[in-house]
Amino acid sequence: MQKLTLDDIDVRGKRVLIRVDFNVPLNTSEDGSPCVADDTRIRAALPTLRHVLDHGGKAILISHLGRPGGQPDPDLSLACVADHLGTLIDERVRFSSNTVGDTVGDVIDGMGDGSIILLENTRFDPGEKSNEEGFAKALASLADVYVNDAFGAAHRAHASTAGVARFVETAAMGRLMEKEIEALTRVRDHPEHPMVAILGGSKVSDKLGTIRALSTTADHLLIGGAMSYTFLQVLGHEVGASRIEADRLETAESLYEEAEDTLLLPSDHVVADAPDAEADASVVEGDIPEGKMGLDIGPATIETYRTAILDAATIVWNGPMGVFELEQFAQGTMAIAEATAEATDDGAFSVVGGGDSVSALGQSGCTDRISHVSTGGGALLTFLEGAPLPGIDALTDA
Ligand code: ADP
Ligand code: MG
Repeated sequence: MQKLTLDDIDVRGKRVLIRVDFNVPLNTSEDGSPCVADDTRIRAALPTLRHVLDHGGKAILISHLGRPGGQPDPDLSLACVADHLGTLIDERVRFSSNTVGDTVGDVIDGMGDGSIILLENTRFDPGEKSNEEGFAKALASLADVYVNDAFGAAHRAHASTAGVARFVETAAMGRLMEKEIEALTRVRDHPEHPMVAILGGSKVSDKLGTIRALSTTADHLLIGGAMSYTFLQVLGHEVGASRIEADRLETAESLYEEAEDTLLLPSDHVVADAPDAEADASVVEGDIPEGKMGLDIGPATIETYRTAILDAATIVWNGPMGVFELEQFAQGTMAIAEATAEATDDGAFSVVGGGDSVSALGQSGCTDRISHVSTGGGALLTFLEGAPLPGIDALTDA
């Protein structure tokens, strides 16, 4: 179902409540105050913010940050994000230490058209995660129109992502949301073939639904990361001390049977005693010796995966191939990043998403060569799985 976009609404003179995803990593600056460690998500919201400000709307921004557990936590305040946004957008960005209530309403009423305010972390209120009606209504009362640009939070039915939309007349997608949906719909619903999906990362349980869905559209599904060992164990391989999910063996087995023709598993591995910077790493083919952990895909697997990727017209990748945070176990992930970038240079359409995958991609230096780098982790998996995203469903139909 098509949803309203910024092109369908007139924001001039209106209070535009914009749900952004400013759930960014924080650092401590030299003077001891918190600061933004990585502003990718803030930058991703700028097209929407620029649109609203340039068209004379009042931009009222809401976001969650971290997991404060439904009560105020000074370490998870969005105040430093407001300052950071101010430097990026070159406007005065007001900040309200209240998320809802009369004082916030009064401040907003006093703001001129084309001005901008960020409200405090929505998760300081217990009604955010429980999608409580009272909190959703309080948010809605600050708005003439609601815009959701937080793709990364769209898989959650929270008050600021879904509940609020029920109490406003108009609820539209922001530019980032639009861009994400367009790119992801292309890979999910009408990919050009051959299509290669690459799935890795830590837990198979997070991604079973996505593996199942992608195995029906992709021509090759390349598996890496810790999740490979659950599959390899099912196939009767020795996996040593590798991380497996014992309670997912049956599901993995039936999934393997369904997807056997498309699924590719690593044939060799970089192993060590532990995921440790000082550990001695070696390459083994086939079975993993007792006591050793598989921590990256090996060179033969890299070659096989690389060939499949270079031949692809569509590539979607989520989940690192190994413990890329440590140099000895980063090669597989770096090689996949490079192959995906090369294929994209040659005309393939590529999508990479997931917090750790995007950070690995940054480490490889290939980010700018990828067609679409998604801001979603859970939302991306949910979308690719074909499951509903409450943050999108709640918006007004076009
Ligand atoms: P994303 O955030 O991109 O969705 P995940 O969170 O699923 O990715 O997985 C990333 C994590 O998986 C990384 O921290 C990485 O170290 C870990 N990982 C990858 N391969 C292995 C492995 N073989 N053993 C243990 N951990 C692994
Ligand atoms: Mg992760």
